Amino acid sequence: MKQGDLVYSGKAKSLYRTGTEGELLVLFRDDITAFDGGKKDVLTEKGSLNARVSACLFSLLEEHRIRTHFIRSLDDSSMLVRELQMIPIEVIIRNIAAGSMVRNYPIREGTLLDPPVIVIDYKDDSRHDPMLNDDLVLALKIVSKDELLRIKDLALSVNIVLSRFFEARGIILVDFKLEFGRYNGELLVGDEISMDSMRLWDMKTKGSLDKDVYRFEKGDVLAVYRQVTEKVLKR
Ligand code: 5GP
Repeated sequence: MKQGDLVYSGKAKSLYRTGTEGELLVLFRDDITAFDGGKKDVLTEKGSLNARVSACLFSLLEEHRIRTHFIRSLDDSSMLVRELQMIPIEVIIRNIAAGSMVRNYPIREGTLLDPPVIVIDYKDDSRHDPMLNDDLVLALKIVSKDELLRIKDLALSVNIVLSRFFEARGIILVDFKLEFGRYNGELLVGDEISMDSMRLWDMKTKGSLDKDVYRFEKGDVLAVYRQVTEKVLKR
């Protein structure tokens, strides 16, 4: 597989052309950032841990007939994906109140959210990813009414599959972020599903098993990412 021209470089991943129309190579780098890039480091192996977990979770979704951009892994840190027309929103699904939800609203950390809460943010670092509501999504013409319904439906389906998967491994899926893109008129799950984009708690201790370990300096983030990767790859 040829790594062609760089198409885009984000905070932790880079996208390259491959020589095949409609396919891109995603390289998961060892960069880790938090607080809008205010905190950054390079952690050897972190990219491969997130790439392997993402590949496994995308495959899991595909097995459940949820379409994603994932085609196949190329090596430990990179994967081949379908080139999507990305929709500039971050779809966050919350099963348990934590993170910005408890910082911004009067709700106690750990409160069960049943049904899950879906939050949609506008993906724009320069605006600090402001929260949207359905009316704003439609007014900004980001997606159509039908697509919005479909996105929420897909997000809830992903939540069911991932929550069960993690539960069976002694891990609570507290919340996570998805991105979607269009591909031949279809909505596909894109980007990544990794310890950088999920909030995971140990079922017994309620300890963090995700980027919160890095954000709030709760311990050895690589050791935690390795522990999650091992559990995920066991399948
Ligand atoms: P919160 O709103 O509590 O900060 O985040 C909720 C969930 O969405 C967390 O699992 C968090 O990792 C994920 N999330 C929110 N915004 C982003 C983002 O810009 N990038 C990534 N990778 N994950 C995000």
